[in-house]
Order: sequence, then structure tokens, then C-alpha cells
Amino acid sequence: MTSITLSHISKSYGSGGPKAVDDLSLDIARGEFLCLLGPSGCGKTTTLRMLAGLEHPSEGSIAMGEKTIVSVSSGIFVPPEKRELGLVFQSYALWPHLSVEENIAFGLKLKKVGKAERDARITEVTEKLGIAQYRSRYPNQLSGGQQQRVALARMLALNPSVILLDEPLSNLDAKLRLEMRAELRRIHKELGATIVFVTHDQWEAMTLATKIAVMSEGRLQQLGTPDDIYERPANRFVAEFVGSLPINIIGISDADQSAVSHWIKGLVGESPVYPVSVGLRPEAIEIDPNTLAAANLRTAVVKDILPTGGSWIVELSVEGEKIFAIAGSAPRFDIEHTVGLSVDPAELHLFDARGERIPL
Ligand code: ATP
Repeated sequence: MTSITLSHISKSYGSGGPKAVDDLSLDIARGEFLCLLGPSGCGKTTTLRMLAGLEHPSEGSIAMGEKTIVSVSSGIFVPPEKRELGLVFQSYALWPHLSVEENIAFGLKLKKVGKAERDARITEVTEKLGIAQYRSRYPNQLSGGQQQRVALARMLALNPSVILLDEPLSNLDAKLRLEMRAELRRIHKELGATIVFVTHDQWEAMTLATKIAVMSEGRLQQLGTPDDIYERPANRFVAEFVGSLPINIIGISDADQSAVSHWIKGLVGESPVYPVSVGLRPEAIEIDPNTLAAANLRTAVVKDILPTGGSWIVELSVEGEKIFAIAGSAPRFDIEHTVGLSVDPAELHLFDARGERIPL
């Protein structure tokens, strides 16, 4: 178990180009399961590659535990093989001419682990990952999911104290992905290793991580627990990136413009600054088929109901303005019905003109 500290890390590919990673500072505690989350091109893989030593940062420093492994200003660069890391990338890069057990044994031999110990470790990791029956098969005789498990087993056999994973579940079908997520959580608990996991899939991040670092355009947007990220997004980007359905964003200004902004402004109360935008998650809107209920502050017309298997996306029109809600149980209303909406003001997220969160 090792902590990792990134201090003011930047990376430009080529001179004068945009920064793939821009002044990134992160403290990753020992035993943390950190997910780097963000859209394609935001710098997640570049960050992981710098941790692995496969890429040199342009500025900044990285420490693992007490040891500085990279410092641009001091000219320190510990090569990848001296970093005691386990790495698994999206393409699992198994040796095609080696069997499963030979693939796993390969790294152990390089580390001069003796035969008896090697066999014991191979047995342990192949059993753990449910691939013991494939020990003598070759990669081309395995499915994509089985190959991915071999890649994880090969990495785990080396007992790394830091594990770096770049979308390692992306080639699996939905069911296997779910199983492997549960497996990764178990492995993390058992080993207590520090894990850095790259994904653009927010559900993957939410279900796996102890901490999530949300990135956009090379910059850290927020570092927090899955709850922090969902319940208290630091800015509009995070609010819009995370959530099962896109969050409703409602602009309000000094002068009331629309029916929706009038309604929301009434819930928020006076804002210290204008204009602000308000984020309202679809799941925070309660729909009441009884428009006469006292709690209903606003009526809307149901425009569409989309079943998604266990929940229903409801498109609503508030005097012609569209907003989306999610119903968790079978709707007791129909298209073109008028319904009452209620929202707990504590569920609203307020952002200033720059998109930064305003505490309510
Ligand atoms: P994805 O989820 O698509 O893998 P990412 O968040 O991992 O994306 P990176 O791969 O780190 O993003 O890329 C960040 C930026 O750096 C992108 O704009 C990308 O085009 C650029 N980039 C990455 N690798 C190189 C390279 N070898 N040469 C030049 N530019 C690169």
C-alpha cells in the first residue's frame, strides 16, 4: 500500500500545443480506489501513463509514498520497471504464443520468483479470477472477457502495491462487466492496494470508487467521494456530466423570464448574485397526478413517458418549456394529463455565471 501525490503536473504533446493535462494536483491516500472520470480526450490516460512512467510530464512532480518518482525541476525520473506498479490497459496485450499460466509466469520469472512460489501464485490468482480451468489454453482460445481476466491475474500475481487500470472492463458485455466490477471491489478490499482506475463511464466510477477525480480539458474539476460528486457537484460541468439522465439546467435572472424560472426562483429564494443557473435532477422532481394536492407548487403537462425497465422517463411541459423527470414506479398518469410537480429546495444546485457552485 502506497499513497500517491501529484503536484502541479502538466503535459503538452509537442511545443505550444494545448495541454493534455493542465496543472493537476491530486493526493491519493493509501488503499484508495480512485477513479479518474471524464469525457474522451480530457487527459485521463495521459495522467495514468505519467503515473506508470510511460510518459514524461512537462511540469510538476509525482511522489509514491515518501519517494519522489518524477520531478521535472530536479530532473528525477524513475523508470516504469522500478515503480512497483501493476498495469492493465484496455488492450490486454497477452503474449499470443504463451499459455495462460505461461503468461502469468512471465513477469514472475523476470522478478526471479522461484518455481514453487510461481506455481502457488498462479493457482491463487487463476482461482480468484475464475480462470483456473483455462490454465493451459492460449489467448486465441479464450473469449475477450476471459482474456481480460488473464490480464488482471497476470498483474495481481506480481503483488503490486499500486494498481493502474485503464478502462480494463470496456470490452466486456454488460453482465460480465458487472461481475468484474464486483470482483475488482473484492480484490481491492482483500489486497488493500491503492488503485487508480480510468473510465469515462460514470456508473463504473460511482460503483467502484472510494474517491472520484472528475476531469475536463486536462483540468481537475472535483475530487470527492461518489456522494460528494453526485450530491454536491463543484460546478456545472460536474453536475451535467454525472447523473443517470442529464440534469435540467434552468437559468434565472433578476427579472423573471419564464414559467420554469419563476417557479424555481420561488424555491431558491433571493440569490446573492444574478444571473444564476439552477440544476434540478430529473429524479428530484416528484410528479403528483392529483393537481389539487396542497404541496403542488407548479402544474405541467405530460408530453411523453419512456419506460426504461423499472423506471420511467417523463417529458413534461411547463407552459411550453420542456423539463425531464424520472418516475420510480409505474406512472398513474397519461400523456397530455396535467400533473402537479413538487421539488425539495434542498435538491437544487445553484451555479454562478462562471458555472461555480454557490452554496445554498
Ligand atoms: P479517452 O477516454 O478517449 O482515452 P482520455 O481522457 O484518456 O481520452 P488522453 O488520451 O489523455 O485523454 O488525451 C488527452 C489529450 O491529449 C487529447 O486531446 C489527445 O488528443 C492528446 N494526446 C494524447 N496522446 C497524444 C500523443 N501521443 N500525441 C499528441 N497528442 C496526444
